Amino acid sequence: MTLFVATSNPGKLRDFAAAAAEVAGLNIHIEPLPGLANIPAPPENEPTFHGNACSKAIYYSLRAPGMLVLADDSGLEVDALGRAPGVRSARYAEDAGFAPAADMPIDERNNAYLLDALKDAPETDRSARYRCVLAAAKDGRILATADGTVEGQVLAKPRGNSGFGYDPLFFLPGMGKTMAELDASTKLAFSHRGRALKKLLEEHGLTVDQESPIT
Ligand code: IMP
Repeated sequence: MTLFVATSNPGKLRDFAAAAAEVAGLNIHIEPLPGLANIPAPPENEPTFHGNACSKAIYYSLRAPGMLVLADDSGLEVDALGRAPGVRSARYAEDAGFAPAADMPIDERNNAYLLDALKDAPETDRSARYRCVLAAAKDGRILATADGTVEGQVLAKPRGNSGFGYDPLFFLPGMGKTMAELDASTKLAFSHRGRALKKLLEEHGLTVDQESPIT
């Protein structure tokens, strides 16, 4: 069975392929959705990860008739900030008009804004998690959804050079490292995307011929 993922991000595709390979008894192939580059991106303005993942899955599956399409939405939730930046993770600094330097790359800008927002938060109040919600749809109908999380803490200073986004600030207490200090294969084992996909496949056991919505 082939699951067509509505992303051209190689990191996401790798996370999904690795998680799919771990699910026993299902022979799942992960492929980018054909022709994705020619489909205009839909707006992502729902207030929840679930809402955005579902609206993306419906949108793309209507443009890929008969295919089982997977869409995701993910981000960082910080408890002391009322679970912000959440669905606005990619645009956190931009939404606030925070731009300390004109040419600062987007990830650096978001991280600088996050540190600013948490400058008065004590070390004991910096709990956070990465969250990913996945939605699978066929011909405009949602067949299944699943959620995956990784718990951690936001550090007061960045550490490490690998990964992307908030990884240099996202500390895993069990590992004693930030996500940006882990090598790619170790990070894979902790991926919120991979966890969500495993759950989707294990709990819902999607099949190509699935006819009725199951969430
Ligand atoms: P999206 O799922 O591509 O919309 O990602 C939203 C944003 O959440 C990204 O731009 C990052 O800022 C953040 N994010 C999601 N997953 C990760 C991750 O694994 N590491 C670091 N940042 C992440």
